[in-house]
Amino acid sequence: MEFQNNIDFAKGLDASDELRDFRNEFLFPKKEDGSNKVYFTGNSLGLQPKDASKALQIELDDWATFGVDGHFEARHPWFSYHEMFRKPLAEIMGAKETEVAAMGSLTANLHFLMVSFFNPKGKKCKILCEAKAFPSDQYALESQLKHYGLDPQKDLMELHPREGENYLREDDILQTIKDHAEEIAMIMIGGVNYYTGQKMPMKEIAALANELGIIVGFDLAHASGNVELKLHEWGVDFAAWCSYKYLNSGPGSVAGIFVHDKHAQDESLDRFAGWWGTPSEDRFMMRQGFKPAYGADGWQLSNAPVLAMAVHKLALDIHCKAGMERLLNKQKMLTSYLDFILKDISNRNEGVDLKIITPESRGAQLSILMSGKGKELFNRISEKGVVADWREPNVIRIAPAPLYNSFEDVFEFGKLIEEAIEEV
Ligand SMILES: *Cc1c(COP(=O)(O)O)cnc(C)c1O
Repeated sequence: MEFQNNIDFAKGLDASDELRDFRNEFLFPKKEDGSNKVYFTGNSLGLQPKDASKALQIELDDWATFGVDGHFEARHPWFSYHEMFRKPLAEIMGAKETEVAAMGSLTANLHFLMVSFFNPKGKKCKILCEAKAFPSDQYALESQLKHYGLDPQKDLMELHPREGENYLREDDILQTIKDHAEEIAMIMIGGVNYYTGQKMPMKEIAALANELGIIVGFDLAHASGNVELKLHEWGVDFAAWCSYKYLNSGPGSVAGIFVHDKHAQDESLDRFAGWWGTPSEDRFMMRQGFKPAYGADGWQLSNAPVLAMAVHKLALDIHCKAGMERLLNKQKMLTSYLDFILKDISNRNEGVDLKIITPESRGAQLSILMSGKGKELFNRISEKGVVADWREPNVIRIAPAPLYNSFEDVFEFGKLIEEAIEEV
């Protein structure tokens, strides 16, 4: 499609957008004049669904009414609350219902999964990850290595872009895996890099890892709800994600895990167990000797954090009502439109270069490398009602979320950034 940088064109795209009404299901931070801010940080914290307080109130009321009996008598009994997530999570992650579980928090889940899936042996003891992984992931990987008496300096292999380039070449990733297959015990990479917005070739990485006998796990914090995932079909061993970015479930809300069915009944895997990981019929037996439930359920530890899950459930239902396929189609258009607008601004303004460092293989996010007065420009657009994200030393991350952002948002963002350029 030939895009145009004007308001009528943007409105036209909104008029033909099947998902345009989903915007009304979310609460936007407001400008001083009461209009919505241009909210482009769904990659960091997704917006609150309008019905979140209602969903939460149901559980608070049932708690007030039933006390402990709410475990079985609440409208959504808390004892089996987590089971409601199997279907929507399976849909979003491209998994079987037995392969997913809503639980815990992202970094903690990564640790629990690595207890099972990182098994360094002799020379085959290294972890392969991307350079500039999200700090929490770096810390998690470092500390796992140290736990086994390994040396992060040596045993954490990082994939770096080539000199002078901003993102990884897919062939380089695969070649590195082939070249070091004898040393790599586990690949743990972000499905979409939080900084550059690059979507990794997860399918190809997983296929190669399977072929070479390397365990492969993905951190899907920036991928879940944002890009197409087929974790089961790709043969990914394990994955973890958080729910508060593109999945709109609220700050620090309950996270989730994927464990491939090929490991569903493998009792030889080490795991740090808890009572919620036992089959539901055994849970109150309080027997000695842990027997895991089938599949991802067997990695659960604690009873369901129902208050967080109430919003998570609502948010996933909205997501599934919109449908992954429609969301992905809109996401491609919306991000392409943003890409077009940024290039149009650079072309028309001498000395302005809004350099996009995100490759074509991406989700909703574009990362712009700023030069000169980048921070000042960022501050200006923030004052004008844009919510974007500044990452040191000089990158602005913007992510129009297809569930609630419009083409008009993208146009307005362009207009405000152009105003700011003139002022700075
Ligand atoms: C957002 C994000 C996290 C955050 O971890 P929490 O445990 O939820 O605080 C971790 N890793 C990546 C890649 C992220 O994008």
